[in-house]
Amino acid sequence: MQTEKVRVRFAPSPTGPLHMGGVRTALFNYLFAKKHNGTFVLRIEDTDMRRFVPGAEQYIIEALNWCGITPDEGVLPSGSIATEPCSRHPFAPYRQSERKAIYGQYAKQLVSQGDAYYAFDTPAELESYRLEAEIRGETFTYNHLVRNKTANSLNMTAAEVARRIKETNDWVIRFKVPEDQMILMNDMIRGNISVQSGTLDDKVLWKAHDGLPTYHLANIVDDCLMQITHVIRGEEWLPSLPLHYMLYNAFGWQEKRPLFAHLPLLLKPDGKGKLSKRDGDRLGFPVFPLEWTSSSGERSRGYREDGYYPEAFVNLIALLGWNPGTEQEIFSLEELTEAFSMDRVIKSGARFNPEKARWFNQQYLRNRSDARLAQDFLVLLQKKGIATTLQKAEKIVSLIKQRASFVHEFWDLSHYFFIPPTNYDPVYSKKSWKPETPGIIRQAKEILEGCTSFNVTSIEKTLHLWIEKEQLKTGQVMNALRLCIVGEPQGPGIAEIMDVLGREETLARLDRALNNL
Ligand code: GLU
Repeated sequence: MQTEKVRVRFAPSPTGPLHMGGVRTALFNYLFAKKHNGTFVLRIEDTDMRRFVPGAEQYIIEALNWCGITPDEGVLPSGSIATEPCSRHPFAPYRQSERKAIYGQYAKQLVSQGDAYYAFDTPAELESYRLEAEIRGETFTYNHLVRNKTANSLNMTAAEVARRIKETNDWVIRFKVPEDQMILMNDMIRGNISVQSGTLDDKVLWKAHDGLPTYHLANIVDDCLMQITHVIRGEEWLPSLPLHYMLYNAFGWQEKRPLFAHLPLLLKPDGKGKLSKRDGDRLGFPVFPLEWTSSSGERSRGYREDGYYPEAFVNLIALLGWNPGTEQEIFSLEELTEAFSMDRVIKSGARFNPEKARWFNQQYLRNRSDARLAQDFLVLLQKKGIATTLQKAEKIVSLIKQRASFVHEFWDLSHYFFIPPTNYDPVYSKKSWKPETPGIIRQAKEILEGCTSFNVTSIEKTLHLWIEKEQLKTGQVMNALRLCIVGEPQGPGIAEIMDVLGREETLARLDRALNNL
């Protein structure tokens, strides 16, 4: 175990928007770093030019900021990636394409040590090997059984190798996986793992045609150069771990090898298979932190735009694969930092539950003060062209917030406070408007006119005394009043609604109902 300061990195490839699983990886890195007073680094792994997506890098930075898990190193306050070394960002540049010049020497070092070799197979040749294997019902693996027969520096004279390097430009450097070695690894979540090297591929480390390393080489070299102590990443990288161990061994960097933790996959709501980028739109929930529009104009939903609070989003993803070991479910970022530990991260997949996600937002909404919710509500009302006072908004919010999971639901829950009903719910009308009802409503009008102070307590008291005296049915009277005032069977207590509307508006609505029903 390293004794130096904890340094972790989140190393996304800018190949599209960050999936919520990616945010979870970033969050666990952040929590681990904060818990150990360490440093959280952002590194952009953009060496695969074919998969580069414009805007993805900015998206990643914006998403992390929205979640409040801003990296300590790698990103400047302006939100751009640090390109010049300085005290805060000593290992800049943090974008691998700008570190291009670094990697070639490491690949060549491995060749000269005999741990890697030049391979000259053309794409057409590789394709034919693949097809041949397929016909035999096998998957083609470029390994010790194959490398003796293919076009590479292991089978050629030095002169031939030199000629090909000079005259062609689509050669690569491949790692020479030992033929028969047991690779013993350790994962902080999964414990000891061992793999027989003979089953592994001689992975490409570096490509001459673009002068760029592949993910594996760049990742190992940078983790070492950036003094990363712990690699916390998704389970999909577990199959690469043997190669990464072999690379650390080949470079003689065993002492610098970080500890690894591979986080469990996020599973679809039915538990069947990995939660994919497509699932959200198909199943009706966001899988991205922020909305994203692809170059072809396809729009994917985001938690932010769907009205989630970042705190709720962070809370819900923290519990995907980690548990505190207690019943507590609501955690602020500070509380998560305090409670987080890698030994409570599970191995098996974490099933995503969209209803539970809504529940988290509801909890955060309920915990917001009415004054704060009223501010958001005013913005929503303004967009609808409705003017009201902060005081009234606050009162309404206090009455409806228990029924909402999102601020944008406030309008559906409260429109009748602002717009009198014009259509009366037909089923509710049939149930609540009987031949004797107009007479009752006329009486109610008189009673309410005479009610000394028009507030919840006095309205309730006055109505009940009258109902008792006249021996009316409470339910029947209340339903009829709700029909006149709200138009439908929803909302808080009718006295509460009358109190917000005020006497004048309440009586006007009763009159209007008497004329229209
Ligand atoms: N660039 C890799 C990715 O896109 C990083 C994997 C790792 O953390 O090693 O996820």
